[in-house]
Amino acid sequence: MGLGSNLHAVSAEICCAHTISGQRRSNMFTLDRIRTAACVAMISLAVACGGGGGDIINPTPTPTPNPIVPAPPALVSVSVRGPSTIVVGASTPYRVVAKYSDGSEVDVTSQVTCASDFMDTVASGCILTPIIEGVPINLTATFSNLVGSMKVTVVPIPGTPWSQLAPLSSQEKSYVVGNIGTSGLINHWRQGTQVKVWAPTSINRAVLDSAVRFLNDSLPELRLVFAVVTDSVAANVWINFGPNVACGKGGPSRISPTGEIETGQITFAAPFCVSIGNVAHELVHVLGFTIHSPRGTDLMSPAVEGLFFSAAVKRAIVWMTSQSFPTRPI
Ligand SMILES: [Zn+2]
Repeated sequence: MGLGSNLHAVSAEICCAHTISGQRRSNMFTLDRIRTAACVAMISLAVACGGGGGDIINPTPTPTPNPIVPAPPALVSVSVRGPSTIVVGASTPYRVVAKYSDGSEVDVTSQVTCASDFMDTVASGCILTPIIEGVPINLTATFSNLVGSMKVTVVPIPGTPWSQLAPLSSQEKSYVVGNIGTSGLINHWRQGTQVKVWAPTSINRAVLDSAVRFLNDSLPELRLVFAVVTDSVAANVWINFGPNVACGKGGPSRISPTGEIETGQITFAAPFCVSIGNVAHELVHVLGFTIHSPRGTDLMSPAVEGLFFSAAVKRAIVWMTSQSFPTRPI
């Protein structure tokens, strides 16, 4: 017999003996009835708990029905979400959302590659940077063989009235206006950037160093530092020899959609073209001053007049470089 059954049986005996040995039945009638009722209940409990005499064994497990595994919700659609109108050059993040048959939505932006049907830059994270205004973009994202898309309209960078920009003399303003490209933006290097100039060893290093020193000394207000570097990979301005109609040619070679000049290129037609003045002249073209001052004016005249800047040219260069990105004067 199992231990559990013995305990139940003993409890029942003590309890029942007490009820029948009481001496003051009349006084205790009610109490005894309660006790008797409790005993009956306890005995019943003893029987119910194993009083039948059998050993306690593990109950036969009730077979549990196979759990109903719901079918996973099916992917219904993929959508691209974000602003439908953005400014050219403004990097804008979009979200890619997968919708399932149970109505749930999951952000899957980090799991997809977004693409534009134009030449725009689309970075991971579905960050769109449109390069040209007016060209409608179809931004797409593919997830589990489903394609989501969104039409995006690219609008021009808002213009800033000239009256809200730092004042310029008419001569200075004419230089600035002459340097504005087709984008309408003031293109310039970011202040604080190191302009790292690389040239092959066939270009006289002393000439290069002198040109760079002249610019650093003459244009401290630019807040740019020119340096000659020997590692072409680390450079952001490269000088080379090449076919050229003029003795030298230079200018920005990569400009961001917001007008930030990121790299420059200078080409000289022959070694005799590489003078301090010519190198400095071409480097100022690289700065975004792509036009010439009138003949006989200064370093930026078509034929370099010497190692000096007129006040208007210097002011125009400094003014351009101090603008924020992007600045489109109107
Ligand atoms: Zn020039």
